[in-house]
Amino acid sequence: MNVGFLLHQGAGTSQEFELEFPALQVGDDLDLSFLRGVMRLTRTGEGLYIEGPLEAEAELDCDRCLTPLKHPLAIELGELLYYPPRPGFDASESVPETGILDLRPLIREHFLLNMPMHALCRSDCKGLCTECGGDLNETNCEHPETELDPRVAALKSLLQES
Ligand SMILES: [Zn+2]
Ligand SMILES: [Zn+2]
Repeated sequence: MNVGFLLHQGAGTSQEFELEFPALQVGDDLDLSFLRGVMRLTRTGEGLYIEGPLEAEAELDCDRCLTPLKHPLAIELGELLYYPPRPGFDASESVPETGILDLRPLIREHFLLNMPMHALCRSDCKGLCTECGGDLNETNCEHPETELDPRVAALKSLLQES
């Protein structure tokens, strides 16, 4: 995103950008199947203030059975990026001299904070058999199921709710 023109405007000037990406990799660990939203960029005395709601869908794997699934994500950006870049700050915290802004690190950071602790394809996913690796949602390999201690099971469901 080229924001060079905004950098040469006086403080208070702002511009809206409509984002619409079909599929986007925002980091090694995060693939989105779409990203959209409206971002407002405002020139301030210190740099650029970026705000706006963004919606996306993350491509994850079920924690238990590894089936790919899509998880909806929504964030509200409100971020000041310094311009000119300040020494000692991370590159993702400033607008580069070129005026070409790469928002992916920022977006990635926000979305990762909103990621579920456990991604499940469905709440009662049976997972994979610990013996043969078969998907227990689809096969019944007849390996004995290891019974969970009820206290452990209760703790487990508590953890999954948070
Ligand atoms: Zn699953
Ligand atoms: Zn099995």
